[in-house]
Amino acid sequence: MRLVMIGSGYVGLVSGACFADFGHEVVCVDKDAAKVAMLRAGRIPIYEPMLDQLVAHNVAAGRLSFTTDLAESVRAADVVFIGVGTPARRGDGHADLSYVHGAAREIARNLADFTVVVTKSTVPVGTGDEVERIIRETNPAADVVVASNPEFLREGAAIEDFKRPDRIVIGTEDARARAVLEEVYRPLFLNRSPILFTRRRTSELIKYAANAFLAMKITFINEIADLCEQVGADVQEVARGIGLDNRIGPKFLHAGPGYGGSCFPKDTLALMKTAQDHGAPLRLVEATVAVNDARKRAMARKVIHAADGDLRGKTVAVLGLTFKPNTDDIRDTPALPIVQALQDAGAEIRVYDPQGMEAAEPLLPDVTFARSAYDAAEGASALVIVTEWDAFRALDLARLRAVMVRAVLVDLRNIYQPDEVERAGFAYASVGRSAPHLAEPMLEAAE
Ligand code: NAD
Repeated sequence: MRLVMIGSGYVGLVSGACFADFGHEVVCVDKDAAKVAMLRAGRIPIYEPMLDQLVAHNVAAGRLSFTTDLAESVRAADVVFIGVGTPARRGDGHADLSYVHGAAREIARNLADFTVVVTKSTVPVGTGDEVERIIRETNPAADVVVASNPEFLREGAAIEDFKRPDRIVIGTEDARARAVLEEVYRPLFLNRSPILFTRRRTSELIKYAANAFLAMKITFINEIADLCEQVGADVQEVARGIGLDNRIGPKFLHAGPGYGGSCFPKDTLALMKTAQDHGAPLRLVEATVAVNDARKRAMARKVIHAADGDLRGKTVAVLGLTFKPNTDDIRDTPALPIVQALQDAGAEIRVYDPQGMEAAEPLLPDVTFARSAYDAAEGASALVIVTEWDAFRALDLARLRAVMVRAVLVDLRNIYQPDEVERAGFAYASVGRSAPHLAEPMLEAAE
């Protein structure tokens, strides 16, 4: 089949390359000419493991190409996916649909034979109706069906997620569109990946409900972590103890600095706004958003506390800028407000991240970008792990201690064991694993 992907970012490029790998002929379109030039020159604009090889293989096989020319590619297409960004709209937090609507207008003008237009972008309930209205208004004669097919891939594991998804959700009630999309996803049908056909509005809501639920799960364990610190319990063991219950499951129960990234923050906000507009407020989601927002400041306070309550004139090393490992994405990463709060408290900041520094540089003008974790630690009074990159999991603690002014490690991802770090001569703070001295007064109080 001939597929067109409008938008060649994290979702469009991965989906396009994977569809090409399924055997389809795929054209990835982007209006960013520099991005398209890079892709045509064989370079990948984002960091995603194994994506370079997948793209190169499918380009060489003649199945994958890149262009800025939306018109020509749409005219030849059987299926057009919309994979453009839907960021939070400035001011009110609703999803900004201007890129989706703009793409719909451009697509409409160039539709030729029967075409299925599919929104893969995360879009609020009813967006499919609006895309269809725009297309019919722009090109009343077009033979077109608008379907929804939200994407659930995770950055850092995107190819695996796309090729072995937990499920595929397709929102359409049209038999022709269903047949076309069954063909598009044929290899996954053969793999017996669960495929859910549903109504378009339901499909759109499934994506937001899934993201809001996961954000809520993370936020729940983060609040439990705060309680653990007060009562002398260990959140790692609480998470394991509840996660072994099949009804709960072990994933997304890692306490940390709060969720971030290109999806959860904007999607929880957009869902909250949609629900308020429809008179059905989602109070759990509202609480999740508020708790998560406050958490970044709380994490900065944890660092200040570990550094004896005063950061003025001190250097803090920050390891990790991306919102999670194995991506270069820094959109809404907790690292940025944490760095900002530490600077506000008077600290000089030295940062290191294996992939995120290029994107972060314009956003962090008064920060020193280091060449390695050890370079970042040079002269620091505290070292803070914000992102759990593998490269930070087995740091040479003696080597760090030798270059630091004070041996203080604040581990916001709980990737170290308290006793090993303390044995290495560090003062150690983590998340939800309370200092032992807190346990005693509680026991006394219980007697
Ligand atoms: P992105 O910003 O990386 O990519 C979007 C691309 O679309 C950009 O390259 C932009 O230049 C291009 N674009 C915008 N308007 C265009 C137009 N009219 N014609 C051609 N190109 C156009 O965004 P992303 O992270 O890939 O996210 C895309 C959508 O997928 C969003 O709705 C997001 O919520 C959703 N999503 C993202 C992820 C993720 O992990 N990033 C996962 C699931 C769903």
